[in-house]
Amino acid sequence: MAPVVSPVPTSEDLPSSTVVGIIGGGIVGLTAALVLAERGIPVVVLEKGRLAGEQSSRNLGWIRKMGRSVADVPLACVADRLWAGLAARVGEDVGYRQAGIMYLARTQAEMDMHRGWLDSVRDLSLDSRLLTAPQVDMLVPHGQGTWAGGIYTPSDGRAEPTRAASAIARAATRHGAIIVEQCAVRTLSMEGGQVKGLVTERGEMRCEQVLLAGGLWSRRFLGNLGIGLPTLPLVCSALRTSPLDGMGEIAVGAPDFSFRKRLDGGYTITQRGALDAPLTLDHLRIGMRYLPTLRQQIGNLRIGIGREFVEDLMLARRWDKAAVSPFERVRVKDPAANAALVAEAMDNLVRAWPTFGNAAVAQSWAGTMDITPDSLPVIGAVTKMPGLTLASGFSGHGFGTSLAAGALAVDLLTGQAPIVEATPYRLDRFT
Ligand SMILES: Cc1cc2nc3c(=O)[nH]c(=O)nc-3n(C[C@H](O)[C@H](O)[C@H](O)COP(=O)(O)OP(=O)(O)OC[C@H]3O[C@@H](n4cnc5c(N)ncnc54)[C@H](O)[C@@H]3O)c2cc1C
Repeated sequence: MAPVVSPVPTSEDLPSSTVVGIIGGGIVGLTAALVLAERGIPVVVLEKGRLAGEQSSRNLGWIRKMGRSVADVPLACVADRLWAGLAARVGEDVGYRQAGIMYLARTQAEMDMHRGWLDSVRDLSLDSRLLTAPQVDMLVPHGQGTWAGGIYTPSDGRAEPTRAASAIARAATRHGAIIVEQCAVRTLSMEGGQVKGLVTERGEMRCEQVLLAGGLWSRRFLGNLGIGLPTLPLVCSALRTSPLDGMGEIAVGAPDFSFRKRLDGGYTITQRGALDAPLTLDHLRIGMRYLPTLRQQIGNLRIGIGREFVEDLMLARRWDKAAVSPFERVRVKDPAANAALVAEAMDNLVRAWPTFGNAAVAQSWAGTMDITPDSLPVIGAVTKMPGLTLASGFSGHGFGTSLAAGALAVDLLTGQAPIVEATPYRLDRFT
């Protein structure tokens, strides 16, 4: 069952024109809409299903710098600042708490990995530090796990995915943005080699600039235009518990479970060491490009071939603007939670912190992530399509950076000085 997203009043009608059209009402597209609206630039967000119905409400809510590739840390640092100011900016508590994140290591090899990451970010002045096993016990007491140690970043944190995107959407609307749900964008409308609008299932909307923030659908959207974006789907299952006392505020990621406290007093939990990889044609087509980064994690993937393969094959890869597009056929991507994996996560966690044995499982769900070969998103212009900017491929960690990513996409689209150096996110790094 999908997490219930805080509702947002949206517009029934598709405007005939605007300045910036945004494809996708996930947290990245909505943040970009807020930034544009705050700057007084007319903007319309078009969402094929429900706002935040896909990754943006299903994620775990971790906001972290720790464990990111060095190139991605500056964006995460800017995002921290923006998260800290978000409640005041949107007038609502979205559950942002800078309560710290800890990763645990069972073996010396895992400790070496954490040490290696810490070395790689030495010049970035982060507050991350290695922990001994007694220090782990002090920070998160009552555990029975045997740890080689851990790594801890006090300034990392969390927020509530079911609240954040909605609060941003409401604020964007107050600033003048228009949001239309149940309105799939089929393709771009071009004139003289320049983007001039969006062709939607409800007709055409003229605009000067387009931001494609379509999450895992951006690859298919661009593929129809003959542009390659390498992203592969991986499915993460999660559960939430009923309220539980005594486990504190720090979010903890062990090799085979993770937990973080929720605003409702429960915890969001996942089997951190396992993701489902239901094979699609794309895995066979571009999977080899992932080998360098996936080599260490391949054991964590539960690879299977089944219904997903056939369903994906049946969705068009090329279509005409007059035809019903794949985006109308799948309004909300809603994979089933892997019951075995969430049970495994809970078992592993209860062994390490028996207090969790007192918590009832209130709900489980899954979400499909859009993973690039280097796990960095693409944020920047699509040079083959003047007027089109892309912000997608957040690789399972885009909730944390979304506030900065949306702002960066707007800076690039409007030609302003970028909020951070955008070179690591260029699309042409894949060509
Ligand atoms: C289970 C899970 C756990 C995760 N945990 C974390 C975490 O703890 N921390 C973290 O930082 N990140 C996490 N992530 C990743 C994070 O959720 C994503 O990176 C982030 O939400 C991406 O936001 P988005 O706006 O790019 O994409 P999405 O939220 O997927 O939004 C894209 C939207 O575009 C719409 N769309 C697509 N094509 C069209 C079209 N043609 N017309 C109209 N609409 C269209 C879709 O319907 C969708 O609503 C997790 C993800 C999952 C699935």
